[in-house]
Amino acid sequence: LENISLFKRALGDTTDIVQKQMFVFKQGDDDLVLRPEATASIARAYLENNLGFGFKLRKLFYIGPMFRAERPQKGRLRQFHHIGVEAIGLTNPNVDIELIELADRLLREFGISNYRFTMNSLGCLKDKAKFADLLKDSLSKHKKDLCADCQRRMAKNIFRVLDCKNKRCREITDSLKIGQSYLCADCKAYFDKVRAGLDKFGINYQVKDKLVRGLDYYSGVVFEITHPALGSQDALGAGGRYDYLFRELANKEIGAVGFAFGGERLILAISQKPKVRKPDAYVISLGDKATDKGLEIVRDLRISGISCDFDYSDGSLKSKLNEANKLGVKFAIIIGDDEINKGKLAVKFMQESRQEEVGFNNIVDFIKASLNNN
Ligand code: AMP
Repeated sequence: LENISLFKRALGDTTDIVQKQMFVFKQGDDDLVLRPEATASIARAYLENNLGFGFKLRKLFYIGPMFRAERPQKGRLRQFHHIGVEAIGLTNPNVDIELIELADRLLREFGISNYRFTMNSLGCLKDKAKFADLLKDSLSKHKKDLCADCQRRMAKNIFRVLDCKNKRCREITDSLKIGQSYLCADCKAYFDKVRAGLDKFGINYQVKDKLVRGLDYYSGVVFEITHPALGSQDALGAGGRYDYLFRELANKEIGAVGFAFGGERLILAISQKPKVRKPDAYVISLGDKATDKGLEIVRDLRISGISCDFDYSDGSLKSKLNEANKLGVKFAIIIGDDEINKGKLAVKFMQESRQEEVGFNNIVDFIKASLNNN
């Protein structure tokens, strides 16, 4: 829960999130809301807890539920999860590069391919105002063709016209040629540096001149990651710089950049089903004494890093071996009265038709060595 005033100040009063998408609990002067996103909350927490104290740059991450009162559909939920990172403290293109490289590397590690990065720079506050003027000029001749909402947006927050889903509004905004002419020399050099860094890492992106990200707190470099398999809700994640958020919240100059993935959409985009890790060994006991020993062995194996499981059923040896087979383990370790008397275990190699006797004290080393030889 956060106070609604935080999001009004950070995201902006005219954004969809603040106007329509928050679950609000009425209470006194400053209502409470279920957080719709976490960057504003992190900035608040950073300031309240003095998290920057003694650090030039703090790198934070979060994974947690967010709430937006939207009409649910595929890929759009009322409660979903953000996996986000923030780097707070500096304005430096190399930090932006590291952050975008991290997003790219995470996606690969999640087993997602065919995603697309689009980027833009909104520039500093002066540039952003110039950009808004340029948009206003180019849109003014189309004003009467825009939907009623966009006509209002033109007066209140022109950038939001670019997010309109109306077909005619889309056609109009798509036809505009804005480029990045509003960028001052410093902001242009910054953007070029970030792009050169991404080129060096071989990260593909497209510069899209009308990518603005709807929230007020963004400035400078912004980006979005989409995936073609997701249909109309195709954004996997998004981010950018928010150097002026701390000025807005606390009158402090603190550079910051971050991004958030939508966890549920990542799952939709993962083309391969995640691999289920099979245990390497399965311990089968017959009788109470054997069970006590078996549980000890499971613990020893796990402590030494071998993944294994124990058969707790009352079934016959045959049914227990069937279970081991179903689980796809490499070794079934069998203990019965005979084995207890001999101080030895029977290790059955499930993929081969062989079995070996191994002393109680050697079982961990034996399984380790057999795994290494595999
Ligand atoms: P945003 O703050 O809207 O840019 O959100 C970042 C990411 O969170 C988006 O790119 C989506 O992947 C995901 N996301 C946003 N809203 C929703 C939602 N209502 N349901 C599921 N995922 C969402």
